Order: sequence, then structure tokens, then C-alpha cells
Amino acid sequence: MHRSKMSVEERNKRSRLTQIIHSREFVRGTLTMRWKVCGRPNCKCIQGQKHPALYLVHSKDGCKKQLYIPKRWEGKVREWVEQYKDIQERLEEISCICWDKIWKREE
Ligand SMILES: [Zn+2]
Repeated sequence: MHRSKMSVEERNKRSRLTQIIHSREFVRGTLTMRWKVCGRPNCKCIQGQKHPALYLVHSKDGCKKQLYIPKRWEGKVREWVEQYKDIQERLEEISCICWDKIWKREE
């Protein structure tokens, strides 16, 4: 399909998405809190008060991957995860427009 056949709405959605992909960081994954025992002999975690540790989890080709997220990275990684979801939603919107074009046989 030629670009001139795109509606203003579609053009705007596409250029916004391009802008976001160019300028922001994004990552696919889910942030999950795990509870850990640290191994220090007198630590409260031995009595059951385990330490929270944040992980970024994702699966790729059926294989689960996880990455420990240090406290100072938490805010940043949360933003990147949110950004990925936002991109996915925007991509889905454009896909819906194209789905419609096929349905209406718009050439
Ligand atoms: Zn401990």
C-alpha cells in the first residue's frame, strides 16, 4: 500500500510510534519480587523474614530468563517495562487499522 492512502489518524499514530522507538528505552518483561535468604548466620531471614529481591522475568522461545534488578535500577527498569507495553498498544492500534483495510478491501 502506498503511503498516500493512509489516513491522517494512521500517519499520526505511525510517526508517534517511530518517535517513541527512536528516543526511549524499552524492555519486554515482568517485574517480580522474590524472597531470599542471604546466608549470613545471624540474619533475620533465617527466622523467616526473608529479603525482597526484584527480578525482571521474561520468556523467549519457551525458555524463561530472569535478571536481578538492583534498587538503583528499579525506577528505570519499571519505566522501560511500561514503555514496552505502551509501544505494544500503539503497534496493536496500527495493526487494527490495517486489519480494517483488509476487511474493507481498501487497496
Ligand atoms: Zn538475610
